[in-house]
Amino acid sequence: MEENKNNAQPIDSKIPEGPIAEKWTNYKAHQKLVNPANKRKLDIIVVGTGLAGASAAATLGEMGFNVLNFCIQDSPRRAHSIAAQGGINAAKNYQNDGDSVYRLFYDTVKGGDYRAREANVYRLAEVSNNIIDQCVAQGVPFAREYGGLLANRSFGGAQVSRTFYAKGQTGQQLLLGAYSSLNRMIHAGKVKSYNRYEMHDVVIIDGRARGIIAKNLVTGKLERFAAHAVVIATGGYGNTYFLSTNAMGCNCSAAMACYRHGAYFANPAYVQIHPTCIPVHGDKQSKLTLMSESLRNDGRIWVPKNIEDAKKLQAGQIKGSDIPEEERDYYLERRYPAFGNLVPRDVASRAAKERCDKGYGVNNTGKAVFLDFSEAINRLGIDVIRQRYGNLFDMYEEITDVNPGELANEINGVKYYNPMMIYPAIHYTMGGIWVDYELQTSIKGLFAIGECNFSDHGANRLGASALMQGLADGYFVLPYTIQNYLSDQITVPHFSTDSKEFDEAEKRVQANLDNLMSIHGKRSVDSIHKELGNVMWEYVGMARTKESLETALKKLKELRKEFETNLFIPGTQEGMNIELDKAFRLRDFITMGELIAYDALNRHESCGGHFREEHQTEEGEAKRDDENFFYVACWKYNGNDETAPTLIKEPLHYEAIKVQTRNYKS
Ligand SMILES: Cc1cc2nc3c(=O)[nH]c(=O)nc-3n(C[C@H](O)[C@H](O)[C@H](O)COP(=O)(O)OP(=O)(O)OC[C@H]3O[C@@H](n4cnc5c(N)ncnc54)[C@H](O)[C@@H]3O)c2cc1C
Repeated sequence: MEENKNNAQPIDSKIPEGPIAEKWTNYKAHQKLVNPANKRKLDIIVVGTGLAGASAAATLGEMGFNVLNFCIQDSPRRAHSIAAQGGINAAKNYQNDGDSVYRLFYDTVKGGDYRAREANVYRLAEVSNNIIDQCVAQGVPFAREYGGLLANRSFGGAQVSRTFYAKGQTGQQLLLGAYSSLNRMIHAGKVKSYNRYEMHDVVIIDGRARGIIAKNLVTGKLERFAAHAVVIATGGYGNTYFLSTNAMGCNCSAAMACYRHGAYFANPAYVQIHPTCIPVHGDKQSKLTLMSESLRNDGRIWVPKNIEDAKKLQAGQIKGSDIPEEERDYYLERRYPAFGNLVPRDVASRAAKERCDKGYGVNNTGKAVFLDFSEAINRLGIDVIRQRYGNLFDMYEEITDVNPGELANEINGVKYYNPMMIYPAIHYTMGGIWVDYELQTSIKGLFAIGECNFSDHGANRLGASALMQGLADGYFVLPYTIQNYLSDQITVPHFSTDSKEFDEAEKRVQANLDNLMSIHGKRSVDSIHKELGNVMWEYVGMARTKESLETALKKLKELRKEFETNLFIPGTQEGMNIELDKAFRLRDFITMGELIAYDALNRHESCGGHFREEHQTEEGEAKRDDENFFYVACWKYNGNDETAPTLIKEPLHYEAIKVQTRNYKS
C-alpha cells in the first residue's frame, strides 16, 4: 500500500493569541455577536438530539435564533446519549482533594496521550463547572452526600474525585434536563422538532452550508430544509465495528456526507476500546453491553496467578470464587501502583488483552478477566455497594444470570462474592469531523459538536469526559462561536429550497437510494455489516501492524464490491423500510472503515487508543513518536469512495503542558 505523501498543507485552527488561561476569556470579549433583534432573522439547522444536539438546539432557541432540530429516533430523548452510565467530570473541587481547572485540563491532555489541541481542552475544563450549575438548575438529580452537597466519584486517569453522577443513569438524567429545555423552546415556537428524519446530504451553496436533504423515515419521502448555518451533532462511528457498546442506531452517515463535500475528517484511527464490557458470547450477537467505568472505584480486576487455574476456569471446572486471594493476580494494581484499577481505558484494555493472550483468560473463550467486588463488599457491606452500583449489578445479572453481589464461597474465613466477567469492546470514537477553535468545519457555515467532532480527547478519552464535552459544546461554546459566523449573515434573506443546488443534492440522494434498491443480491445488510465488523476488529482493532492494516484495506475493498453487487433489501422505497435505512448507513460504515485503516497505517507510532505493535516499549506500553507525529491528521476526500484520501496536517502547539511519556505507575 502506497502511503499518502501529500501532507504539506498546514491548516489554520484559528486559536486566538495570548496565554492559554486567557484564550477563551479573551475570545468571548473580542468576538462578534449577533444583535438580539437580528437573531430571529437567522435559521440554524441542528442535526441530532443527543446531549450535544439537544443542548445546542435549546440554547440557540433560547437566544432567539430559529432552530430546526432533527433526529432519527421517534423522540429526541431516545438519542444514544441516554445510555451514558457513569458520570460527567467537572473541576468543582467539592471534595477538597486538590482539583482545579488546570488539573482537569492537565489530566485530559495527558489522558489523550498529548494528541489533543491544548487550547480547546483548557476551554473545556474552564466551562466544566458551568455545566454542573446549568444541569442542577434544570433539576438533574445528581447524587448527593448525606449533608446535601453534590457527591463525586473517581474515574480513570485521575487521582481526584471529580465525576458527578446520577446512579448509573447519568446520561438519561442529563438528557431529560436538556430535553425539558428543548421542549420549552419547541413550545415557544423557537425550535421546530423533526423526529424520524434522517439527514442524507448537506447542501452547499457558494461554498457555504445552507441546508440539508433529509429522508422522512416514516413516509420514505425526501424533504429539503434551508438555513443560514448547519450544525451536525450526530454522534460517533463506533458501529463501524458492528459489535460495540453504542446504540444500534448510531451511525456516521451525516459525518460522511460532510466529508464527501470536503469537510476534513480528523484522527479517524483514534477509537476507544473500553476495558469493562460484558464479553462476546456467540456469533448471533448484535450489541455489547458496557459495565460502567465507575465500577472500578470499588471493583478490582484480576486473573489467576497460575495458568493451571486459568485452564480450569476455561474448562468450567472451577469458578472465580474458588480461587483464594493469594492466588489472584491483580495485574493493574501490580503494574500501575499509582492509579491501580483506575488507569485510563486504553491502558486497562491492553493489559487485559496481554493477560488473555498469554492464556490467563477466565471464561470458555479465554477472552475475559474478572471484576471483583468481594473486598469492597467485605469492607463496606452489600447495601452500600448496591446503593452505588445497584442498577449495574441488576443489568449484569439480567444478561448473564450471575448476581455479582451474591456470596459464593468462604475460604479461610474470607468471604468471596461472584465476580463479573469483562473484556474490552469498542465504545467511543475520539476522531471525527475536523473543527477549528470555533467548532466550524473546513466548510463555511458547517459546524460539528459532540462525539461527531474530533476536538478535545486526543488519542484517548478519559471516562466521564464525553458528556462534559458534548454539553460544553452545546450549552457554552457553540452558542458563542456560531455568532462570529452569523454576524456576517444577517443581510442574507431566508433561503428558498427551489434552487439548482437543492435540486442536484436531492437527485444525488435519490440516485443513491435507487441504486441500493436495484442491487437485488442475496445478502442481508447485517451479514455484510457483521463481516465488516470482523475485519475491523481483527485487523484494525486493539493491536495494529503495517501488515494487518494493509490486509484490512484489501479486504474492505472486496467487501465494498460484495455490498455493491450482492446486497438484498426487501420491500420498497415507499413508506418505512428499515433495511434500506440500514443499507444507506452501511455504505458509509465501509468508507469509514477504510478511513480508519488509512489513518492507522499512516501513524507509525502508538498513542492512546491507537496501538501499533511495531511501536511499543519493552514493557508493552505505547511508544509515541513526537518528532514525526505531533499533529492532527486531517483527511480530505478525493472525489470518490474508492480513491485514497489526502492527508493534511494540523501541527500541535503546546505552551502550558510539557509533552512527556505518560506514566501511571508512580
Ligand atoms: C454505554 C455507554 C455509556 C457511556 N457512559 C458515559 C459516561 O458515563 N460518561 C461520559 O462522559 N460518556 C459516556 N459515554 C459516551 C457518551 O454517551 C457519548 O459520547 C455521548 O452521549 C454522545 O453524545 P452526542 O450528542 O454527541 O451524540 P448521540 O447521543 O449519539 O446523538 C446523536 C444524535 O444524532 C442523531 N442522528 C444521527 N445521525 C443522524 C442523521 N443522519 N440524521 C438525523 N439525525 C441523526 C441521532 O438521532 C441522535 O439524536 C457512554 C457511551 C456508551 C455507549
